[in-house]
Amino acid sequence: MSNRKPLMAGNWKMNLDWKQGLALVEELGEQLASVDTSKVETVVLPPFVDIRTVQTAVEAGKLPIAYGAQDISAHESGAYTGEVSGSMLAALGATYVTVGHSERRQYHGEDEQVTGAKVKAAFAAGLVPILCVGEPLEERQAGRHVEYTLAQLEGGIEGISAEQAKSIVIAYEPVWAIGTGEVATPDDAQEVCKAIRDSLRRLHGDEVAEAVRVLYGGSVKSSNVGELMDKADVDGALVGGASLKAEEFARIAGYQG
Ligand code: PEP
Repeated sequence: MSNRKPLMAGNWKMNLDWKQGLALVEELGEQLASVDTSKVETVVLPPFVDIRTVQTAVEAGKLPIAYGAQDISAHESGAYTGEVSGSMLAALGATYVTVGHSERRQYHGEDEQVTGAKVKAAFAAGLVPILCVGEPLEERQAGRHVEYTLAQLEGGIEGISAEQAKSIVIAYEPVWAIGTGEVATPDDAQEVCKAIRDSLRRLHGDEVAEAVRVLYGGSVKSSNVGELMDKADVDGALVGGASLKAEEFARIAGYQG
C-alpha cells in the first residue's frame, strides 16, 4: 500500500455553461456526503467561464471538492489574446490545471516544448499541473506505447526541480481510450503507469517516484474504476464523460466502497 492519496479529477471539457456547472457542483457536493472524502481527493476541471461560479459554490457550501482549469497560458501576462494566466487561475482558488491533454495536442498542436512551458507556468503560479500523456492507437499497435508515452513525460517535465516533480500529477491517457468507451485493461494501465513511475525514479530518485500520483484516464466509469485502482501504480483517474453526472462521479470517488 502506498501513502499516496487517490485523486479523482473530472474534466468537463467544453461542456456546461456556468448555470449548469453550478447545478453539477452543488449536486456533486450532496452526493459526496456518502463518500469518505478524507480518503480520496475529488477535483473538477470546468471551462474557464465556470470557475468563478464553482469557487463560490465550493466556498459557500464548504464542499469537499478542489477545482482547477483545463489549460493555462505559457505566459505570465500581456498581449496574448484569448489566453488565461496561471496567476488569474490561482486568484480564483484553483489548485490544479491539466496540461497537454491529447485534445490540446491534437487540435492545438501542443508539443513537448509547449507542454513543458505550461508545466513551468503552472508551478510559477503555485498550481499543480496534471500532465497528460499517452499514445495513439497506431503506436500501441506497433508496440511503442511505453517509449512514446515516456518521451511525452520526459519532454513535459524537463528542467523542473525535484521539489516540483514531487508534487506533479501525471495522467496516463491512451488516446484510443478517451471518449470511446474502450477502457484499457488494468494490466495495460499498470504497465504504463509503472513505466512512468520508473522514469520519475531514474530522473529524480525514489522519494519523488513514490510521492507522485499517476492517474489513468480513458473511459473510466464507476463499473471499471475499482479494478484499475487495484493496480499498484494507478493512484486515481482523470474522468471525462462520467464526470458530467454527479451521482456517477461521486460513485467513482467512492470506489472504495
Ligand atoms: C478525458 O477527457 O481526459 C477522458 C479520459 O475522457 P473520457 O473519460 O470521456 O474517456
